[in-house]
Amino acid sequence: MSTTQDLQTIDRTNVWHPFTQMAEWVQQDQLIIESGKDNWLIDTEGNRYLDGISSLWTNVHGHCVPEIDNAVQEQLGKIAHTTMLGLANVPATELAKRLVDILPQGLTRVFYSDSGSTAVEVALKIAFQFQQQAEKGDPNRIKFISMQNSYHGDTIGSVAVGGMDLFHATYKHMLFQGEKVLSPYCYRCPFGKEKATCDHECFQHVEDVLSEHGSTAAAFVIEPLVQGAAGQIMHPEGYLAHVRELCTRHNVLLIADEVAVGFGKTGTMFACEQENITPDIICLAKGISAGYLPLAATVASEEIYNGFLGKHEEFKTFFHGHTYTGNPLACAAAIANLDYFENNNVMEKLQPKIAHLQNRLNAMQELEHVGEIRIRGIMTGIELVKDKGSKASFEAAAKIGHRVCMEARKYGVIIRNLGDVIILMPPLSISLSEIDLLCDATAKAISTVTE
Ligand code: PMP
Repeated sequence: MSTTQDLQTIDRTNVWHPFTQMAEWVQQDQLIIESGKDNWLIDTEGNRYLDGISSLWTNVHGHCVPEIDNAVQEQLGKIAHTTMLGLANVPATELAKRLVDILPQGLTRVFYSDSGSTAVEVALKIAFQFQQQAEKGDPNRIKFISMQNSYHGDTIGSVAVGGMDLFHATYKHMLFQGEKVLSPYCYRCPFGKEKATCDHECFQHVEDVLSEHGSTAAAFVIEPLVQGAAGQIMHPEGYLAHVRELCTRHNVLLIADEVAVGFGKTGTMFACEQENITPDIICLAKGISAGYLPLAATVASEEIYNGFLGKHEEFKTFFHGHTYTGNPLACAAAIANLDYFENNNVMEKLQPKIAHLQNRLNAMQELEHVGEIRIRGIMTGIELVKDKGSKASFEAAAKIGHRVCMEARKYGVIIRNLGDVIILMPPLSISLSEIDLLCDATAKAISTVTE
């Protein structure tokens, strides 16, 4: 059995961590997780930490959930993997029906992959190919419209529709071109307006972009309601419905990337429900398997699917598929996840927790360097600023956000920053007292680091 020190040495010597400046990483003593229980992570030294980000927005019911453990174990006794090329398997088939039953009506065809990025990649290729070949398509529609401040994953297609310079600018010469809509980031409005008095210039702007580019666009890609990775930027009410209406008007397919927001995190099972819209394609990952196994799904409407049955023999096939597509273990975990939502009334029980979190966050707004707190459901972004009046940011080199998260660990809480936005996204299973701990630790860490 390796000691913590052995593991740290191996980690420093042989592991390359995601989204991590490795020169800095190797200077620190890594916290190495060995186990988890409920909403807690336990490291190799036996220290317990509240998982304030549900292991990157994924473990929606926490860790080691007996019902999901059992479902995976039961599936292990049958088969761990079989291909979906030329075969169907029991869990992948059953899961498709379960997803279709709970998704916005009209999304009927489930294409599996294994990460949020691939779910988006698949959606882009489906939309593009539909336009190229379907009777209802239009081969001149070769562009994608997406949003500034968007994040859709790290594969090249999903990076091309991303809109965060920090993550995406390095790769710009590798990417296909598209059009970007300015992000309706009300705290730092790109039109120079204030939330209370604006005239919804962002609504007009997206209308203008669609008027100009709508006839050459294959699809519009959006994170519904919340731009997560950019710092939980919450779109104004009605924005998503407006985009849906514009896409319909201009015959542009709407791709909703619910990888981050799906499976309860905004307070409803899917974010699209809150504006009563059905996209043409929806992308799901993260919470789909409750953080148990890598799984994603891209679900398309019947009309899109039908475009692939068309008369051009050479175009009939969607040329895409990963080895682990529809993996039975992952699909069994996903079915158990959906059962857990139903059997435990997770969404009903979540509502008072959201109210409690909101109350606790309101108090945090008083802290000197808390510029804005954004919350939708359980998704929270706390934007730290050097000066509230001018909204001036801290110098990037001060790494305030990162330091706050490191400080919070001293109080037994794992949280993560995106720049100087502190993200809280606890499991839906968090208790009221754990919300108190999460908020107390976050507030204390912010005060200690910033004052
Ligand atoms: N889309 C969105 C909206 C996301 O937030 C993420 C991941 N945070 C992805 C796509 C990519 O998912 P993955 O990391 O599983 O590839």
